[in-house]
Amino acid sequence: MPGVGPKKAEYLNQLGIDNINSLLNYFPFRYENLQIKPLNEIKDQEKVILKGQVALEPTVNFLGRKKSILNLRLLVENNVVPVSFFNQPWLKKNVKVGEIILVYGKFNNIKKSLAGIKILSNSEALNSMQPIYSVNKNIGQKELIKLIHLAFEQYRDLIQNVVPSTLIQKYKLLNLVDVINWMHFPKSKQEAYLALRTAKFNEFFLFQMKLQSIKKNDFSSGISIKYNKDDVNSFIDKLPFKLTSAQVKVVNEILFDMHDDKQMNRLLQGDVGSGKTAVAAVAMYAAINDGYQVSLMVPTEVLAEQHANKLASLFEPLGINVALLTGNTKPKPKISLLDGLSNGDIDILIGTHALIQDNVIYNNLGLIIIDEQHRFGVNQRRQLRNKGNHPNVLSMTATPIPRTLAITAYGEMDVSIIDELPAGRMPIKTTWIRNNQFQSILPFLQQRLKSGEQIYIVTPLIEDSETLNMRNAEYIYQQFTETFEPDYKVGILHGRMKDSEKNSVMSDFKNNQFQILVSTTVIEVGVDVSNATVMIIFDAEHFGLAQLHQLRGRVGRGKRQSYCILVANPKNELGAKRMNVMVDSNDGFVISQRDLELRGPGDIVGNKQSGVPEFKVGDPIRDMTMLNIAQQEAIQIVSNNDWQKRPENKNLAIFIEKSFSEKILD
Ligand code: ADP
Ligand code: MG
Repeated sequence: MPGVGPKKAEYLNQLGIDNINSLLNYFPFRYENLQIKPLNEIKDQEKVILKGQVALEPTVNFLGRKKSILNLRLLVENNVVPVSFFNQPWLKKNVKVGEIILVYGKFNNIKKSLAGIKILSNSEALNSMQPIYSVNKNIGQKELIKLIHLAFEQYRDLIQNVVPSTLIQKYKLLNLVDVINWMHFPKSKQEAYLALRTAKFNEFFLFQMKLQSIKKNDFSSGISIKYNKDDVNSFIDKLPFKLTSAQVKVVNEILFDMHDDKQMNRLLQGDVGSGKTAVAAVAMYAAINDGYQVSLMVPTEVLAEQHANKLASLFEPLGINVALLTGNTKPKPKISLLDGLSNGDIDILIGTHALIQDNVIYNNLGLIIIDEQHRFGVNQRRQLRNKGNHPNVLSMTATPIPRTLAITAYGEMDVSIIDELPAGRMPIKTTWIRNNQFQSILPFLQQRLKSGEQIYIVTPLIEDSETLNMRNAEYIYQQFTETFEPDYKVGILHGRMKDSEKNSVMSDFKNNQFQILVSTTVIEVGVDVSNATVMIIFDAEHFGLAQLHQLRGRVGRGKRQSYCILVANPKNELGAKRMNVMVDSNDGFVISQRDLELRGPGDIVGNKQSGVPEFKVGDPIRDMTMLNIAQQEAIQIVSNNDWQKRPENKNLAIFIEKSFSEKILD
């Protein structure tokens, strides 16, 4: 595109824009609806357009290099409103005394003044829907919209519908060219609304088409695992604990699927600490018992290592070989590992998404387990499956979502649920305190430390900036060091550290080398230190409920009473309610249900942590009905064996084909 050189292309890439298509589909996340309002209806700090007459010659004061302030007075409804513009001295020549102008800015209701943002033309003021995009420091709003405009003008004739015309008619959807036009350049609220409605449907429908074609094509007949029942039972008997009845139930569901010659594709949902790993271990054992290999994929290195250690101690005494492959595995050991894998010496391979690299070749892969499966994309999961000849797949998630939602969000999977915790678990005691009450819990922390227990401290992702989070964590780290050292030692863990550093910090904490661990959310999943009994979460209002629950699940893993302390000053009632949900319940399903109920419009707690797949425009929770309909339509289309050959599905078939050939490795 004209105006996009290598530098700019790279900046656009950072936003996930790498071609004209993704540029046109880079939709605004909201619109600013500018209005000319009577003065007495404007709220404090509201962004508005004021229409008035310039009452005095504007003045510019320079406040140093590049800094200036332009002041003018605007006569609005017989009131004089002071207006100031920062760092836009050139506006002076556009403003003449006596002229009627439109100024867009932020209103201060106390001073009855306006912090000007820009002066609008009549047509700009009429077109009052201003799209707001998520941008970064290299690409601003104005520049992005200019590029989108350019691309749209140049390529609009090439934009074709992907969704079949039958559905467009049935649901009164817009053509794609109108969706793109109105998403970016709506002339009214109505246009923006209609465009968004179709954009959501398109997104859900294409997502479901992908899932349903996977279900139809990939999961036909698969490997039947003929394990020896007595062997499996005696393996279960040798576990250090008796399985809960919920575990027994899901083990049966899984073993049935594995034995059957249809390919298993099952989602195992269970709260943190409900014992999913034990269930996975039984499934692994059954596969290996019939001579197959097993692959376990997890989202982080720390978790991979921890699983590897745990499973090695369980399986190696039985002569079953366990290996670990991550991005950090050194070339030499890697070669011998890959050898062992292809000749069948290795029975269980555990790793991060390094497992989907091309050179990872199994001898006879019979079972795949994907932990925290929502952390992986559809294509990544598919790539792992393609390492075997229709291997059985068990996906696991510790962030339970209500069953109805699971069925649509994971339309291609059967669902098993562990709805019971192992007996004798003491529920974690959760309290919520305000920031200024923190001092008051120090004696309690001293007490816990004195009796040999350990403490986690988590600081949030306030912004998507690891630098900022690190500083936050480091500040808290210093505070705790001053308070507790030398009696107790404090460690720190953050996302900027190398994986090897993270791993050594985790293992030091596990070995009680230090008693307090300050961390950003990198400790979130799966980490298991049973001697830790206190979880303190700072600025807890910045977390989603699912994530808070997940973090809380890091404690309560041993025999002692555990505690979770939420430190939060929520800004509104909703925030306070969310804190109370955490205080009142320890049950992941209850929490996820309450989370759904509490989600109001404008609540921007992301789905990333909630176990629900992420969409760009659609919200699978708020727009669940639409997601459902999209699923029904996708099922209907795919049920027809030659749907790809029908003329009305031409573009759809191309889309699906293409989306599977993309190798998305994050
Ligand atoms: P999840 O993966 O679901 O979070 P884990 O499998 O890590 O849970 O189990 C949490 C802890 O509970 C582990 O220490 C595990 O050994 C223990 N555990 C699992 N199942 C049982 C059981 N049936 N009875 C007692 N303890 C159990
Ligand atoms: Mg399994």
